Amino acid sequence: TSKDTNRTGPGGQASKEAVKSADRAHVFHSWSAQGQIDPLAVAGGEGSYFWDYDGNRYLDFSSQLVNTNIGHQHPKVVAAIQRQAARMCTMAPGFAVDVRSEAARLIAERTPGDLDKIFFTNGGTEAVEHAVRMARLHTGRPKLLSAYRSYHGATSAAINLTGDPRRWPSDTASAGVVHFFGPHLYRSHFHATTEAEECARALAHLEETLAFEGPESVAAIILETVVGTAGVLVPPPGYLAGVREICDRLGIVFILDEVMAGFGRTGSWFAADLFDVTPDLLVFAKGVNSGYVPLGGVALSAAVAATFDQRPYPGGLTYSGHPLACASAVATLEAMAEEGIVENAARIGETVLGPGLRALAARHPSVGEVRGVGVFWALDLVRDQATREPLVPYNASGAANQPMADFAAACKRGGLWPFVNMNRTHVVPPCTLTESEAKDGLALLDDALYAADAHTTAGTAG
Ligand code: PMP
Repeated sequence: TSKDTNRTGPGGQASKEAVKSADRAHVFHSWSAQGQIDPLAVAGGEGSYFWDYDGNRYLDFSSQLVNTNIGHQHPKVVAAIQRQAARMCTMAPGFAVDVRSEAARLIAERTPGDLDKIFFTNGGTEAVEHAVRMARLHTGRPKLLSAYRSYHGATSAAINLTGDPRRWPSDTASAGVVHFFGPHLYRSHFHATTEAEECARALAHLEETLAFEGPESVAAIILETVVGTAGVLVPPPGYLAGVREICDRLGIVFILDEVMAGFGRTGSWFAADLFDVTPDLLVFAKGVNSGYVPLGGVALSAAVAATFDQRPYPGGLTYSGHPLACASAVATLEAMAEEGIVENAARIGETVLGPGLRALAARHPSVGEVRGVGVFWALDLVRDQATREPLVPYNASGAANQPMADFAAACKRGGLWPFVNMNRTHVVPPCTLTESEAKDGLALLDDALYAADAHTTAGTAG
């Protein structure tokens, strides 16, 4: 039929034009005005790179949506998915299946404390939805507290818990969510000037929020261990331990969302390890299998799991613990251990990315702050280093966002795929990044930052 013409190019591969025209006609894209986007047609990827149909290769400093922690097309994971597909593609969650048991065992072995039971989902959002349901049933309380600077997912409770502007159009999706300010010294809400002051005042603010809400009505506090899309905010020492203490004292379930921070991103298996805290529920996705097959989940403490020992947990998913997803998680976690991938992320962050990004900040007037750990960094771009005025206004779009659009375009022209959010570029390459790839990426960022510098008070004055 006419629909089938012009579908393939030389070598039987789909042609760029066919891919793009079918995409334009039939794919409804996330978070986008459908008429205003022009998605890159991607032909393939390997390791830290992916490429388009015109032979342009991009160093992936986004890890897609910060999920390809082991890079693109890791051969051990690809082979495991192929082997599992030949054996058993699907089996309902009510059965015990070898790869599901093994994935749960390996995850439980890595999670801190007694987080030893794993509820599988298809991604991070669903895991957040189930974590808050578990917390509400465990405590018998209705309310949930989360941070303004946060992202927790795109549905019902998860989008309401989200603090960033993606929440605004869906604010009434779920009742009982209250937001508070977490610590963020560079843009302190508490007029603090030291990490210790920021930490103490952020904890006092949380206590006050709880007192006004009525702590006995609060089921859970949910936090990203290291805040991801809302800015790569590493909490000051003592903050998470302080929240843990508050939750213990008031009978509140402490949920850590490690969807982005978990499985190597911070240079440790979980960001919670860096702060020596154990939540009651830990939410994961992304890095657990680098997103090769959709997978997420909740790790439950013994106490929360016990609530559902003699009473059924009222929730489930057709594809919970999907065999292909679990096989890919087993292979991912084994490869990460065998190849020292978590250690690599820690080393590259400490010896190459951290110092390299700080050197860029010293050279470029547009870089206000460098923050991060492991392969989880942000450059906070400003119009003026002294006033810290963001390079673009909060939640800017269209012409107001031009400085960031110029910066992103400069990155792509140079062959680096950036992760840009508001006035920040996040430096979030795979955990497998080599030293020479890191140096290449830093050089490309250096070049692209001149496009941001041009929009600073220094750049526009000169
Ligand atoms: N929590 C955090 C911290 C995330 O970064 C994300 C995804 N960016 C989610 C939850 C939602 O995960 P998913 O997109 O897999 O549903």
